[in-house]
Amino acid sequence: MSDETPICSAKGCRADAVWVLAWNNPKIHTPERRKTWLACEEHREHLSQFLGIRGFLKDVVRFEDWEGSEES
Ligand SMILES: [Zn+2]
Repeated sequence: MSDETPICSAKGCRADAVWVLAWNNPKIHTPERRKTWLACEEHREHLSQFLGIRGFLKDVVRFEDWEGSEES
């Protein structure tokens, strides 16, 4: 019920996010910039593939490891 519960970024998915996908679009972002998507276990592969095909995907990290390691 809390707004702070991270939710999967996949369309229509309300599951808790377990993974953080860090990505960068070199056409619009500077190289060090990181955009993040959140993913549940089920959608991690789907979202990773979506970004990976475009060459945008930089990192996939467990949500609990992402927090504290780097700020958005
Ligand atoms: Zn999901």
